[in-house]
Amino acid sequence: MLDWRHIDTVLLDMDGTLLDLHFDNHFWREHVPRRYAEKHGLSLEAARAELFPRFRSAEGTIDWYCVDYWSAQLGLDIAMLKAEVDHLIAVHPHVLEFLERLAALGIPRVLVTNAHHKSLMLKLDRTALHDHLDHIVCAHDFRVPKEEQAFWNHLQNRHPFDPSRTLLVDDSLPVLRSARDYGIAHLRAVRHPDSRTPPKDTGEFEAITDFRDIMPSLRDEERGTRESQCEAPNRRVRSRSNAPKNRGELRGARDDDCRDAGGRAKQDARAEEKSVRGSKP
Ligand SMILES: [Mg+2]
Repeated sequence: MLDWRHIDTVLLDMDGTLLDLHFDNHFWREHVPRRYAEKHGLSLEAARAELFPRFRSAEGTIDWYCVDYWSAQLGLDIAMLKAEVDHLIAVHPHVLEFLERLAALGIPRVLVTNAHHKSLMLKLDRTALHDHLDHIVCAHDFRVPKEEQAFWNHLQNRHPFDPSRTLLVDDSLPVLRSARDYGIAHLRAVRHPDSRTPPKDTGEFEAITDFRDIMPSLRDEERGTRESQCEAPNRRVRSRSNAPKNRGELRGARDDDCRDAGGRAKQDARAEEKSVRGSKP
């Protein structure tokens, strides 16, 4: 059981956690091999046999998540191909209720994703998830995925948080282990990242079946306790009221080439002022 009186910040993964991983699994296992086979005159099976080892070799690296990397590697417009099947993008059940409950309790909701900006924007466009988040942090801004300790150090610099009072929900076991190594105290895995496949083995981590499992209550006394704790100035990420942000600005700042190191520091600084909450595009 989570004790919400001890949690000031909630970090949330996107693919497989807030969103159904069915889209991504279908995209990489079915759609990309199909288009690759068409392009090269191969059977679907031959395309898979060629592609899957290449995919596996990049797992856990920032390249694996980079739309532009795969576009260059495969000679396919990966962003365009994603748009072809974007009707499969879906928010997991009870996610929005959970995010709004956190908002009611004044707990900052921070999306931490390895997804490339182009994937992120497509998914925000489809789901309007940004209307229910306080900050979005894209690992490509830091050029390191969540699997690496450097990611958490960068995150700490951008949105200071107390690891002992932070919850991370993520469907990736390597990411959860990385967060645990960093000192994040409250960790939950996801039992059904892909709604179309059997439950996942979540290893040593407690897992949620859906967000009802960790839904905080709205009891007044709990809220009062939380608010007094949240006043500790060195514990909180910046409050939502101090960070009015605009999804349109986010697009401009983030929709770039993840391999472009030039101007990275400047972009990170600008990104500090961007947000997902506020006006729609
Ligand atoms: Mg994930």
